[in-house]
Order: sequence, then C-alpha cells, then structure tokens
Amino acid sequence: MNGSFSLQEAIDSPLWPAVALALGLIVGSFANVCIHRLPLRQSVVKPRSRCPHCGAAISAWDNVPLLSYVVLGGRCRHCRAGISIRYPLVEATNGALYLGLAVQYGASVRALALMAFVTALLILSLIDLEHRILPNVITLPGIAVGLAASLRPGPPGPLSAAIGAAGGYLAFWAVAEAYRRTRGVEGLGQGDWKMTAMIGAFLGWDQMLLTVFIASVAGTLVGLALIAFWGGSGKSKIPLGTFLGLAGIAVTFVGEPVTAWYRGLLHG
Ligand SMILES: [Zn+2]
Repeated sequence: MNGSFSLQEAIDSPLWPAVALALGLIVGSFANVCIHRLPLRQSVVKPRSRCPHCGAAISAWDNVPLLSYVVLGGRCRHCRAGISIRYPLVEATNGALYLGLAVQYGASVRALALMAFVTALLILSLIDLEHRILPNVITLPGIAVGLAASLRPGPPGPLSAAIGAAGGYLAFWAVAEAYRRTRGVEGLGQGDWKMTAMIGAFLGWDQMLLTVFIASVAGTLVGLALIAFWGGSGKSKIPLGTFLGLAGIAVTFVGEPVTAWYRGLLHG
C-alpha cells in the first residue's frame, strides 16, 4: 500500500476502532429494518420507519442507535407502546462485533468484508428464528461479496473461498443427514445450503467446515436440552440457520487459532 488506495487510507487511523463501533451501531439499526421488513417482502429503503403500534413516523432524532431507546425509556414517543428490546440488542451486538473486528483485523479490507459478513449472519439468524426462512436477497449477494473479497491478498484466498462455497453444498447434505437421524426432522431447507455457501465464501473451506460442525453440535445439544426440560416430540424449536449464524460469527473471531491447532494435531 503506497497511500493511493483511498479506502485503506480512510480506515488507517488510530480512531479506527471508535469509527468501527459507530459504524456498527448505525448498520445495526439498518439490520433491524432488514430483519423486520425482508420476511414481509417490503423495501428496506423506504418508507421511513413507523411505530408498529400507532403508525406514527419515527423521526431521525428518535432513531439514533441505542441512545433513543434509552432516552425514550423503550417506548414510542407518541403512543407510549413498548419498543421491542430486540432493536437495541441488535444495534449493541452489531456495534460490539464491528469493534471486535476492528481490533482483531486492524484497519484492513478484510475487516470491512467481515463486517458485512457478521451483519448478514446476524440478520439471517434472527429472520430464521422467527420466520424459518433465509432470504436469497441476503445469501446470494453474500456469496458474491465473499468470493470477491477473497481476491485481496491474505487468507482465505480465492481457491479456499471457492471450495468453501461449493463445499457448502456437500456439507449441507452431511448436516441434513445428521439432523434427520438425531432429531427425526427434516431440519434443512434450501436456504441453509446457500447460507453455508456464503460462510464458505467468506471464511474458506476449513473454517466453513468448523462452522457447520459447531452449528450441528450446538443444534443437537440445544435440541436435546429442550426435549429434556420441556418435553415434546424432538421437533426443532430453533432452526439450523440460527445456529449457523451464531457459529459463523464465533468462527470469524476464533477460527484461525482453532484450525491452526487442528492442523498441528494432524501433523503431529
Ligand atoms: Zn406508537
């Protein structure tokens, strides 16, 4: 880098973690709009957000991430109906993730790509939890962005990303089979393999496999716990996409040391 790359310059600053936190809160606010509107097939750009209770338009001042929720006491300014705690939680989570990526990956294009990635995973996790769908409008552009981001220098590299995206298909079959056997349910829809392909495109094939492994183990354990504590038929109460999303976010932060450790085991 000789300074001619303006994006690198813009993020190459001691303030980068603070900028990343602010960016994360703002994008988290937009993620809330996506989580609410994408399953309803509404535009995420317009119209302006409205109170779902009284329909009053929410002004920009009442839409500041985290702060507005605190100032308004978690209630609509007009009708005083409660605002879901999910909104500030998504904003705070996304802000914390961006701050963590800025610290771990520094001022880099990789950090920016992974910011887009974790926000996509957060949105997919929560939409799948509520609606049991994983919208193509997130997963398909996600695969493309992940593959494009792999072209810059450094891991995972384009070959690993391409194998990861294609391997998402195969991992899909493995997990579908495990789900069917251990839980007696068809736990996977078409959205799951596109989401797994997106994870492979961003993280490379080895960390994609790690993500799928963690998600299926966590999904099985939580499924068994739900049966043990609440009974029931073993029917999945939490969809796999939610586990894939949470596991993908975890692997984004710890995947490198874990896969290095695993490679060390293999090579004695
Ligand atoms: Zn209202």
